[in-house]
This record gives sequence, C-alpha cells and structure tokens, in this order.
Amino acid sequence: MRRALITGISGQDGSYLAEYLLDLGYEVWGLVRREPETSRWLEKIVHRIEFVYGDLRDEESLKVAFQKAWPDEVYNLAAQVFVPTSWECPAETFDINVGGFARLLQIVERQKPDTRVYQASTSEMFGNVGAICSERTPFSPTSPYGTSKMAAHRLAAVYRNRGLFVLGGILFNHESPRRGPEMVTRKITRAAARWVLGDRTKLKLGNLQSRRDWGFAGDYVKAMHAMLQHDTPKDYVIGTGVSHSVQDFLRQVLIEVKKVCHEEDVPRTIEEWVEVDSQFLRTGEIHDLRADSSAAQKDLGWQPKVDFPQLVEMMVEADLASVREALGTKAVS
Ligand code: NAP
Repeated sequence: MRRALITGISGQDGSYLAEYLLDLGYEVWGLVRREPETSRWLEKIVHRIEFVYGDLRDEESLKVAFQKAWPDEVYNLAAQVFVPTSWECPAETFDINVGGFARLLQIVERQKPDTRVYQASTSEMFGNVGAICSERTPFSPTSPYGTSKMAAHRLAAVYRNRGLFVLGGILFNHESPRRGPEMVTRKITRAAARWVLGDRTKLKLGNLQSRRDWGFAGDYVKAMHAMLQHDTPKDYVIGTGVSHSVQDFLRQVLIEVKKVCHEEDVPRTIEEWVEVDSQFLRTGEIHDLRADSSAAQKDLGWQPKVDFPQLVEMMVEADLASVREALGTKAVS
C-alpha cells in the first residue's frame, strides 16, 4: 500500500486530496496543528487517516511526522495562503511557505530520498503578465505571498537538480464549498446565503473587474496526484483556460440563488447588494490570470470536469444549507 503524507490536510485541497488518495487505496497521513475533529471537511474520513501533530515552522515536529509516516509521496499543501495577510506578516509568510518547504526537503533528502514531493505552487507567481500563462511564462509576483511561493518553487527546482523527485504544481485559483471564508468567492456565496435568509448587510468588495481562472478544487487534486505518478518530475500549469471577473461571479451567484429561492429574498441587482470599498483594493492587484494547461492535458491526460456555472451552483447550495443550519431556519424554497 502506498503511503502519502499531506501537509495542510485540514484545508480545502488537503481534504479533497485525502479523500481521493483514500479512494485510490493509499495509506494517508496528515500533518495537523490541532485536533483533526475540528476540521469540518475531515469529519467523514477522520477515522481513516493517521494524524501527526506538527507545524511547518517547527523542524523537529516535521522530522517526527516524516519518520512516523515514512511516505512514498509528500504533498506540501500547508501554507499561509492569504495575500493581504502576507502584507501584514511577510516574514511569517516566508517562514511557513519557504522555510517550511526547505525543512521538508532537507528531511526528505537526508532520510528517504526516493520520496516523491509535490509542492503547491500558484498562479500568483506570474503577477500581471497580462497573457495566458504556461510553464514557460516568466514569474513576476506582486505580493509577499506570490514571492514566497516563487522562492519555494525555485527551491523545488534546485533540489530536483540534485536528484530528488520534486515538482511544483502551478495551480490557478480553485474553489469549492470548502474554500476559506476570507477568499473572495466564498465571501460572496456566504453573503448571498445570508441575504436570502434575511441579513440585508451590504457586501463590501474591492475591484469587481479583477479576473481569475476559477476551477473546482476536487478536479485539481487529481492533477497533483497525476504529476507525482509521471516518469519524470516536471512542473505543470493547471487551470481551466477561461477567466471571469468578480462581477461575473456575482452575476452567476444571483442566477443560481434565483433558481432556488423566492424572488423577494434575492437582491434585484448587484448594486443593491454590493458596495465597492477602497479598503479592499489591493496593493499589487493582479488584473487577469488565465492558464494554458495544454502540457498537463497532453502528458497527464488531465482535464477539468466542473465548469464555472456548476462551481458557483455548488458553492451557493452549500452556503445556503450551512447558513440555514446555523440560523436553524426552515428551507425557503
Ligand atoms: P487552505 O484551505 O487555507 O489550507 C491551508 C492549510 O495550511 C490548512 O490546513 C492550515 O492548517 C495549513 N497551515 C497553515 N499554516 C501552517 C503551518 N505553519 N504549519 C502547518 N500547517 C499550516 O488552502 P488551500 O486553498 O487548500 O490551498 C492549499 C495549497 O495550495 C496552499 O499552499 C496554497 O498556497 C496553494 N494554492 C491554492 C490555490 C487555491 O486557489 N486554493 C491556488 C494555488 C495554490 P490549519 O487548519 O491548522 O490552519
């Protein structure tokens, strides 16, 4: 039975990846900072996973976790992921995102160098290139988060040159009902659910024209696994190839909400519901990002399955259900 160690297992990607690897017959180990029962996304699989406590900033805890798990594959998904926090805490962001990965790589090289390592790289490394991005597009990050991920990505290449099987999956934005509530997509779907259930507080957002290539996290974790099964370690860009603006996302949310809720409970227009607030305009804002995943399609046979309307529908439904549950209200449709 193959053994996988996932850092960041309590997060969006970690929980989907754990489910996928369990289905494939893996023995799954997860690095956690607190009781795994506190992660809602792990509820259904918590009894099938071996957990080890640790923190990417704490080398000793990583050594112990690695020795216990003794993995064939490591998926390094743990990170300080929020761009605004990376401006508030740049040094901590680097300690976790770069230092943590460096600690892991040294452990792998010294203890079990045949372990295959996946690093969670990101489209934020590209910055404002203003073009569709492939593995050949130069990096030009615009935030401490993007810069930290670029440094870790380069570190992966350096260790690869020394013989480790390590690669970076350059993933474009991927969302789901498990997306962190601070991220714009989830902020929107949660606000829509609260509005429908009576809370008329305006949703405050930054730049509505900012565009992203949004895919479904459940599709993207399959690409992570496929990359580590390939004959040679190689970085791949993963995305849908289509970008939408925040405004498009808001529009799609209204469409989905109207399908399942009474008309009088749904905002009539985006303006009635959303207010642009300059405090949410970001330094180093990235205007448009779009992926060219043709290499992953060709080499790995990877294709996204869930499209933009399906993704939004899934997130709206989940947030309506969870807000209803939290409020203890009856179904409105
Ligand atoms: P997420 O839901 O925010 O999960 C982040 C995970 O990292 C959580 O499990 C968190 O644990 C853990 N973590 C944070 N700091 C840690 C530390 N010091 N030590 C150990 N664990 C720590 O993020 P995600 O969306 O699943 O993203 C997964 C990875 O993919 C990240 O590296 C992210 O940068 C990268 N990525 C994401 C996207 C995207 O669109 N989602 C795109 C490109 C790349 P706690 O539960 O204890 O906080």
